[in-house]
Amino acid sequence: MLSIGARSQDRSAESPLKGKTVYIPPMAYGSGRAFAAAFRAVGVDADIVPPSDGRTLELGARYISGDECYPAKVTVGDFMKVLERPDVDPSRVLLFMPTADGPCRFGQYAPHLKNILAANGYEGAEIISPTSENSYGGLGALSRTFVRTGWRALVAADILQRMLLRYRPYEVVKGSVDEAYGICLDDLCDAIENAPLNPPRQLQAIRDSLVRCRDRIRAVSIHRDPSTPLIGVVGEIFCRLNTFSNEDVVRRLEEYGGEGWLSDITEWVWYTNSETFRKLRLAGRLYSKDGLVAWIRNRVQHQDEHALLAPFREEFAGREEPDIHEVLECAQPYLPRDGALGEMVLSVGKAVYLAKKGVDGIIDISPFTCMNGIVSEAIYPRVSRDHGGIPIRNFYFDGTQSDLDRDLGVYIELARSYQNRKAAARA
Ligand code: SF4
Repeated sequence: MLSIGARSQDRSAESPLKGKTVYIPPMAYGSGRAFAAAFRAVGVDADIVPPSDGRTLELGARYISGDECYPAKVTVGDFMKVLERPDVDPSRVLLFMPTADGPCRFGQYAPHLKNILAANGYEGAEIISPTSENSYGGLGALSRTFVRTGWRALVAADILQRMLLRYRPYEVVKGSVDEAYGICLDDLCDAIENAPLNPPRQLQAIRDSLVRCRDRIRAVSIHRDPSTPLIGVVGEIFCRLNTFSNEDVVRRLEEYGGEGWLSDITEWVWYTNSETFRKLRLAGRLYSKDGLVAWIRNRVQHQDEHALLAPFREEFAGREEPDIHEVLECAQPYLPRDGALGEMVLSVGKAVYLAKKGVDGIIDISPFTCMNGIVSEAIYPRVSRDHGGIPIRNFYFDGTQSDLDRDLGVYIELARSYQNRKAAARA
């Protein structure tokens, strides 16, 4: 049995996945790297896939049928790029592909990928997924430790990303915040990978790293301009967070003089937790063993998040991420959670929350043909009407976007005009 507190290089000797490498598609770059560090913390070799590029889209188009959503094309393309490398032995590869229940195609990605691998001679490569049979259970006795480490990694990476987006629009020297962020990410990944696995000591090590990161980014020279339009960014989780898929839309917003407030990954985790409670309640099993397990997990996750966010209270004042119940409450008049499922509820609820917080505009990032984006787009005119005419605009991506710059330029002008007449002051 692995001794708690061992260094990561000792841990690999005990890993049930020894000799394999997990490849993670970086939904968000920082979160992907931090999540890979969480795997390494329990002795499993892991890394994010190499950066997406033209070859990604070429391979994605070759291996999918064309009916799938854009995130499927990007992730399949990136995975196949790894597998076609001459130095990679597919039988030592584990491809990380989360799954989810829900109304859209996402739940089919993992089975679909399995079929693609089988049909193209890559049967040896396996898929690792949080809810499939070949789950974190593959980590044996370390699966619980991994789940908690992975959660802390995601929370910490979200915090770092928020710091990046709070400072980058105002940097005096171009590139200086990105540079500080890069150093911070290395620091955080090192802390996650090498911290003791004992929960309190691990939490302390990650928190210490975040405090160093906070101070490092704070030390970068910036010039804040309160008249900068603040734009809430909601939408489909992969496309919203993956800068390759969305053509780095938040950075481009910044180039047009805006600041982005991007919905993060943990929002989805809180939503799935809350869905678990709703389903248990519907089945009359809220007060059952499953209910107790869900309650404990939710509580522990809240405690971890609270501890990691504590050093950033001042930094994020006025930019607090809402409790999931508040998001669902905001969505209620438009898409009640009992009648609609998934990201459309979050996008609409978050758009309402952001409008109340006084943002100057909201954009919804979705893959072309994404059901969630299409439903949300139909609701937004009403949300806008109910909130002083705040400009809300959908941006769809499929790798062929050509007018993004023109559209963003026009959109920022709309946000500026709303900023001058809006009733809700920014917190
Ligand atoms: S959320 Fe949209 S893009 Fe993602 S799988 Fe569902 S339909 Fe496709």
